[in-house]
Amino acid sequence: FDDRDGFIWMDGQMLPWREAKVHVLTHGLHYASSVFEGERAYNGQVFKLAEHSQRLIRSAGLLGFALPYDRATLDQATDAVLQANGVRDGYVRPVAWRGSEMMGVSARHNRIHVAIACWAWPSYFDADARMAGLRLTVSKWHRPAPETAPTQSKAAGLYMISTLSKHAAEDEGWDDALMLDHRGQVAEASAANIFLVIDGALHTPTPECFLDGITRQTVIELAREMGLSVTERAIDPSEFARASEVFLTGTAAEVTPVRQIGDWHFTPGAVCQQVIAAYDRAVGK
Ligand code: PMP
Repeated sequence: FDDRDGFIWMDGQMLPWREAKVHVLTHGLHYASSVFEGERAYNGQVFKLAEHSQRLIRSAGLLGFALPYDRATLDQATDAVLQANGVRDGYVRPVAWRGSEMMGVSARHNRIHVAIACWAWPSYFDADARMAGLRLTVSKWHRPAPETAPTQSKAAGLYMISTLSKHAAEDEGWDDALMLDHRGQVAEASAANIFLVIDGALHTPTPECFLDGITRQTVIELAREMGLSVTERAIDPSEFARASEVFLTGTAAEVTPVRQIGDWHFTPGAVCQQVIAAYDRAVGK
């Protein structure tokens, strides 16, 4: 991914892709003092850009560092990097990290770096293809308690759990992993939030120990506008037995139905279809 043409915005400059590098003694690499975002551009416009830039700033704050750029500057840099790369439908990856001035757990004076990359990434699956649904297995890894880690931060360190879960699932032939939380309640998939349809109403776990996804918030709003009932609450995994439909939400996943979680089976149907259509409309597809 590092050897290609294109441009990456880094620390205020537009650099050729191959020159956007960090030193091996970067604090972010050794101690996970790094936060990032995942955004999607539709037709040249990042969906919910202000929310994503704001979350990057908040994520860094939760790890104790302040970005040297405000939201408006991040928004402008994002637009500039999309333009420089000629990307209209794509993925945007901002990342911020502590630099290499000091090596040790304490590195409060290290320079804070920010980079924004993007690449073409059209939404591959149309609504019909997505209705086939994903197959998930339940991960042995649980999301940590909010007292254990800054769970509202989109912090690189927290993705150790996601990568372990995703790899274990893929090794066994599943599409993705469902992670439970520290209490054994339903949390989220490796990079997406989860919704259950029970008796025609939506239920989704309260985001206490995982990211309150921007897509999740959007879907809750859209669903309520459509007259669907949405309840945020603790959800026990045994409740999957009562769910008729299940779907995931995320910037990359958009709205993706699930057809199986372990021994539980679901049939993506009218509610999934309705939510996908509403989300596609909202992003301007
Ligand atoms: N949880 C995790 C672990 C994620 O990586 C993501 C994707 N950013 C989400 C949830 C969904 O968040 P969003 O809708 O803001 O993309």
